[in-house]
Amino acid sequence: MAGKIASGFVIFRKHSEKIEYLLLQTSYGIQHWTPPKGHLDPGESELKAAFRETMEESGLLKEDLKVYEDCKKVLNYEVKGKPKTVYYWLAELINPRAEVKLSDEHQDFKWLEIEEAMKYADYKDMRELLLDFEKYVKSLK
Ligand code: AMP
Repeated sequence: MAGKIASGFVIFRKHSEKIEYLLLQTSYGIQHWTPPKGHLDPGESELKAAFRETMEESGLLKEDLKVYEDCKKVLNYEVKGKPKTVYYWLAELINPRAEVKLSDEHQDFKWLEIEEAMKYADYKDMRELLLDFEKYVKSLK
């Protein structure tokens, strides 16, 4: 059987000269820290699902974000023996007044600089993704 597909955004904000990434702590499983993401609905595009899931899981809206469509990475891992593919894009929080509002799926959130984000991210592929995205952010302008 084909695996599940999900998509989401690695969201950063520039906060008093710092670059901070949004990670959410799940209420399920090992309560790991992850960017907002979730499964595609039938017929839904990856990008549309990323916006919908981000809104549902963090309360951040499409208009709060600037998506860098050329900064995209795919993670592949197994969940309960079945393959899962997750597409992530980089996105910047451009509305400084937007507030994170969690759903029941998460219990906490943090805006973390890259060094801290690396400590919270439990999985090597996510840490590599964050480092790649950090390089991209630093190359901007
Ligand atoms: P998630 O895909 O984040 O909803 O998590 C579903 C399950 O996969 C949980 O048991 C996580 O601990 C696990 N998981 C999440 N991210 C990864 C990853 N990058 N590599 C391996 N397992 C993961």
